[in-house]
Amino acid sequence: MIGIICAMEEELTSIVRNLDVTTSHIPSKSDFDVYTARYGRHELVFILCGIGKVNAAIHTQMLIDSYSIEYLINVGVAGSLSADLTFGDVVVASDLVEHDMDVSGFGLPLGQIPRMDVFAFKSDPILLECADKIKIANHKTVIGRIVSGDQFIDSKEKAEFLHSHFNALACEMEGAAIAHTCHVNNIPFIVIRALSDMAGRDGVAAHSFEELKNMTANHSSNVVKQLLALI
Ligand code: SAH
Repeated sequence: MIGIICAMEEELTSIVRNLDVTTSHIPSKSDFDVYTARYGRHELVFILCGIGKVNAAIHTQMLIDSYSIEYLINVGVAGSLSADLTFGDVVVASDLVEHDMDVSGFGLPLGQIPRMDVFAFKSDPILLECADKIKIANHKTVIGRIVSGDQFIDSKEKAEFLHSHFNALACEMEGAAIAHTCHVNNIPFIVIRALSDMAGRDGVAAHSFEELKNMTANHSSNVVKQLLALI
């Protein structure tokens, strides 16, 4: 079974709609909905996890505990940290870091979780190879680092810092927590995010985020559809 996890309803419904699947609601342990569906030769389970790292981790673990998950795909929107990437472009995470994990007082690099053997959680190489073949008309699809934290990034200063310090292309609030949970459970994963805003680099992050959320959610679901055809 392939797990698909989204933070926001707009992201989940755009996938369900665009995949043209019949969904059935099944009782879940959480406050958020779980749906199962068949798409081509794949059995899919979708879960809405809510916003932020803790919600993301709880629901990823729940999915892993409740279903026999072969791969987990996180899809949604993110802020662009790169001047080369604009609204609607898609970033596929090569790896992910929790940018708000800060134990630098003990000499650890920013983002390093103390006493863990890993700095950045890597997307599955087979899924990345498939994702590399994906194309969206009039938009770029690139592979690079995504950083996550419990902050909506809407300042030029912070966006430029995340880009230069972590060499990250996009910022969001769940991907690294999902990746972290998959790493601990040894489940292959990939994180795919379409850019809904410029993370404050253009001075209007919140405004453009609202405007473009649905459009970009459709882009990431298009990518998932292509990815499922390749897996
Ligand atoms: N008022 C909004 C708040 C959304 S928080 C609402 O409830 O609809 C932002 C969500 O989009 C998170 O799930 C996050 O992963 C993603 N995101 C998009 N742009 C982001 C940015 N610039 N910084 C952080 N997260 C971002």
